Amino acid sequence: VPEIILEQPVPREFQPEIVKNLYWLDGGIESFAFDATDGRRLSFGYRKAAVPEHLPLRVKQSAERLARSLRAIPSKTLFELKPANAGCAAPYDQLVQRGWVRPAAHGTHVYRGLFLDLFLALDAQFRQAALRLEAEEYKFPAIIPMETLARAGYLNSFPHNANFVCHLPEQAEAVERFKDRMKSSSPEGATLSLDGFCTHSATALSPTVCYHFYQTHAGQTLPADALLTATALSPCYRYEGKAMRGLRRLREFTMREIIFLGEPTLVQKRREALISLQRELLERCQLHSAIRTASDPFFLDDYDKKRVFQMSFDLKHEVQAWLPEEQEWLAIGSVNHHQDHFGKVFGITLPEGMPAQSCCLGFGLDRWCMTIFAQHGFDPNCWPEGVRVILDAHRRHTAALKTAA
Ligand code: 5GP
Ligand code: ZN
Repeated sequence: VPEIILEQPVPREFQPEIVKNLYWLDGGIESFAFDATDGRRLSFGYRKAAVPEHLPLRVKQSAERLARSLRAIPSKTLFELKPANAGCAAPYDQLVQRGWVRPAAHGTHVYRGLFLDLFLALDAQFRQAALRLEAEEYKFPAIIPMETLARAGYLNSFPHNANFVCHLPEQAEAVERFKDRMKSSSPEGATLSLDGFCTHSATALSPTVCYHFYQTHAGQTLPADALLTATALSPCYRYEGKAMRGLRRLREFTMREIIFLGEPTLVQKRREALISLQRELLERCQLHSAIRTASDPFFLDDYDKKRVFQMSFDLKHEVQAWLPEEQEWLAIGSVNHHQDHFGKVFGITLPEGMPAQSCCLGFGLDRWCMTIFAQHGFDPNCWPEGVRVILDAHRRHTAALKTAA
């Protein structure tokens, strides 16, 4: 197991973010571990016996660069809530044992029982909050054109997270050849080889919700003093490689977004409302949590400069919840101010010709639910009143549906 000694110790709160990025250096890396007491010591497991000669140095340089970038502009804390939640041991394992969460394809899960009840109950609250802000409801596709991703800048900032969608060529011989290949291979453990069948893809699975909204309004001129408000609940897909774990990091997760698009001062005002809304819900659910400035998980080479930009202008606020078992913060939501980025790239303008501004709020449903179990345990009767009220409202609604003949 190669061990690397870094110039400076990496604080615990930076370690998960750094590790998540380092996996992208080499597909043979199986795991990373920072020494529990000495943050300078970082070891990694490698799939094959022979570790490529250059790899330890690359790991060292990348880890140091990421740490420098994280250290350079510390995040600001806007709000912190610290109720004395007991927490519970191995929440993910317990959810799986109870059958409420079942791992499916790597990084995806099936939900039912109390976990799903809570998921739907929370979303009913998030949706209600959106409607009170006069959001129009949308239902977006799971698939998104590559063109939209390219325009949004996603394929430049987060190419490693993309999930491409392709299909067989529209050609009978190719389909026959594919069927023959499938007949001769066994389903167990099969990773279908698409070699020679799919060479390009015009679509991907959507990594976020609001791109669809900007695409819908592309090329439009908004009326004076416009503020478009939208909300949608959508599955989001991000390939996270070896960093995928439990419900903490998924390939498919579900997000409710509230999106504002329009006149800069109106958007700015609404952003404040979105931060307050996050805070209110954290208080109702009595979560050990914080709201902090943060940056997006840009790909390795771009990490520094893009982070500096986001952090300098306080463009991203992350809602973080404390995981007692892992002793780690986890982002369960965010509020993002995009300035005129999407207005520009999607050609959405204000009457005077300036690009529209936008901001969005995202609630990560899977992580919200996970956090409530992790902090409040498995007996809903012992949950804080705010959470019980949310759950009961949903259960009453479900019961009413069952009895209404
Ligand atoms: P963002 O667009 O700010 O990266 O993500 C918005 C929210 O989506 C996050 O705050 C989090 O709640 C959720 N999210 C992002 N990535 C993942 C992931 O890999 N797994 C899960 N479960 N949720 C995620
Ligand atoms: Zn968004």
